[in-house]
Amino acid sequence: MEHCTLCPVACGADRSVRAGYCGVKALTVAKYYLHPFEEPPISHKNGSGTVFFGGCSLRCVFCQNFALSRAERGKAITPKELAGIFRELEEMGADNINLVTPDHVSPYIAEALALYKPRIPVVYNSGGYCKVSALEEIDPYIDVYLPDVKFFSPELSERYTGRRDYFAYCSEAVRFMAKKPVRRSEDGKLLSGILARHLVMPMCVSDSERVLDFLREALPEDAPVSLMRQYVPMGDIAGFPELARRLTAREYRRAVEYALALGFSALYTQEKDSADKAFIPEWDY
Ligand code: SF4
Repeated sequence: MEHCTLCPVACGADRSVRAGYCGVKALTVAKYYLHPFEEPPISHKNGSGTVFFGGCSLRCVFCQNFALSRAERGKAITPKELAGIFRELEEMGADNINLVTPDHVSPYIAEALALYKPRIPVVYNSGGYCKVSALEEIDPYIDVYLPDVKFFSPELSERYTGRRDYFAYCSEAVRFMAKKPVRRSEDGKLLSGILARHLVMPMCVSDSERVLDFLREALPEDAPVSLMRQYVPMGDIAGFPELARRLTAREYRRAVEYALALGFSALYTQEKDSADKAFIPEWDY
């Protein structure tokens, strides 16, 4: 981590002395709790033991967790303290441990999981902008992958994140994640495997269709897919007038119909009411 090339940005920061492009030197956490609003196989009965990490190397202009991804929130913790959080969430009855935006801090998380591997599934909840080499290091500790696949088009990802190579990295990462066998408990909790997510964005349904084509080809037959409707105008979108509104019913219906026609074995969709700031957590640190 003295010349960090962990994520595709490869900014080379010496993280022993300063934060990199992702905004953090090491682990920061803004909140951990039992999250009731993830997909049913993730939140399941008691809630997903969710840990929100500060910083992000993708920096979407429309980020729904903007203060967190820009590292304005979050307190520094050690891997040992993170292991204590895993234990605490498990004792609270969490159905799994859900690591939100872990890609830029994955070696520290691996260190925590080496200290304490929970008995419940560990979920790697990634923005999808990560290297396979980094995933290989943490994979022995991970049970479930929960990646976003945000964009297919390099032009779109460049416009909204500044990263033209998003899909090139994300697609390789998803192919790696898809190797984990899909296993569910009898009552439907995901114990192992992959659940891929895609957030449908205003004016971007054609790109959503290309993302869905990719997921149909890359994922195992029995892997669930989540097609999200929860986009709310937020973040630093003043220069992006097309992002200043929620999704229309017509846009979302078109994406859902396309996904249904592709024949995913399990497709999770969202109600219109999901696009509400009330569902965005408030940070504790
Ligand atoms: S993880 Fe952060 S510090 Fe490391 S290469 Fe990526 S942006 Fe730079």
